[in-house]
Amino acid sequence: MCGIVGIWNPERADPTEAARLAFFSLYALQHRGQESAGIAATDGRDMRIVRRMGLVGQVFSENDLGVLGGRAAIGHTRYSTTGSSRIQNAQPMVVRADGLGELAIGHNGNCINARDLREGLAQKGVPFTTSSDTEVIAQMIAREDGATWDDRLERALPKLQGAWSLVILTPSALYAVRDPLGVRPLCLGRKGDAWLVASETCALETVGARFVRDVAPGEVLRIDDRGPVSVADFAASRRGLCVFEHVYLASVASDLEGVSVYASRERMGETLADEHPVAADVVIPVPDSAIPAAVGYARRSGIPFREGLIKNRYIGRTFIQPSPELRRQGVALKYNALHDVLDGKRVIVVDDSIVRGSTSGPIVELLRAHGATEVHMRVCSPPIRHQCFFGVDMARRDDLIASRMDIESIRKHIGADSLGYLSLDGMVTATGGTTGELCTACFTGDYLVPVQLELAKDSLEAEPVKA
Ligand code: AMP
Repeated sequence: MCGIVGIWNPERADPTEAARLAFFSLYALQHRGQESAGIAATDGRDMRIVRRMGLVGQVFSENDLGVLGGRAAIGHTRYSTTGSSRIQNAQPMVVRADGLGELAIGHNGNCINARDLREGLAQKGVPFTTSSDTEVIAQMIAREDGATWDDRLERALPKLQGAWSLVILTPSALYAVRDPLGVRPLCLGRKGDAWLVASETCALETVGARFVRDVAPGEVLRIDDRGPVSVADFAASRRGLCVFEHVYLASVASDLEGVSVYASRERMGETLADEHPVAADVVIPVPDSAIPAAVGYARRSGIPFREGLIKNRYIGRTFIQPSPELRRQGVALKYNALHDVLDGKRVIVVDDSIVRGSTSGPIVELLRAHGATEVHMRVCSPPIRHQCFFGVDMARRDDLIASRMDIESIRKHIGADSLGYLSLDGMVTATGGTTGELCTACFTGDYLVPVQLELAKDSLEAEPVKA
């Protein structure tokens, strides 16, 4: 996942404004990554950077924003896909290029040929200090031939494979880049004289910016005092926005390629009610991500919507905790169940996805412990059977419960009275897209670019790390 933002202020702007805007836009993207956060800012000469482990609100102080200053800034909030969760891998990363000075980069996605590219660069003597694919991307750009950043980007980017929405800051320009399929979102906004780019539209709204347009798949957008200019176009012959952005990753307050995430999740719930009806007394969501889907299910089925689980907003996503044991405990830590709503009731519980299958069992148990007489699990996406190589930390294939078990075995495993998954067609139609415009590989195994199936999150970790 990861959230990225970029700000370009015209010359006359308040010099702390860019870092401040980056900070508040990152706040709105906290759901995309909670491991570390960072901002790099420039005043047109120097690059300054603050990055630490933790949540956006914990990472930056008022003093940091003052020190960062800058007319232009980029920001990043991290959820690791390649490279472990440690400070060296936090972003933005800064590299120095011969003749052109410093470049800071923030990356959302996963560069699947990073290992090969890194080997090639290491053979030429390029030192690597992290296990992150982002450093490989930064060095690919920095070490390319070319008199300008535009030239180097144009040469380096076609060599990258996979998913990469990027924000890149140099002392003289901000760049916003999307991979040729447009797997991860990125949009452009305007606030007064400032230009903003962000992973999601919700970040623009948070700071009072107006949505201008999505950065197009394969587009390299350069922004400076002359405004945004598209300097290169590497678009593929098809599009491939990650459908899981609609299912889970993106905020319900965002629009993806013009489609409201809230509305697409409501439609998923409605279709789920058509595909998997069952007699029951209440429909409840697993908060927060499944709330609109449960609203849609309830509306279509005519069964009342109630809140039966209350999420503690101050506990992060359970998925982030590393061991299955901790993850299991995380469910009880994270939700309180409401006896009043559940006691004596046949309950339909709607969740957005089942990944490893370690959350659903404890949820079913919790509902029964609070009096539910029947628990019917409904899931707003098809079974996840294939690993994601494009920026979602979904576990290895063997850890995905649906890659090992059929639906009936999963039902028994989680202890539900019935289990219904949304069909692929139902999910795709709900997003307003078609299978030809979306990446659905985690459900179908249909990867849009060839992948090495053994590629792991720590694939760059085993490399000798040079100082
Ligand atoms: P699991 O126990 O692995 O089946 O977790 C499924 C739950 O985690 C669902 O309730 C989802 O809302 C949530 N989830 C799905 N995908 C992810 C992800 N990539 N990162 C964090 N949480 C996720």
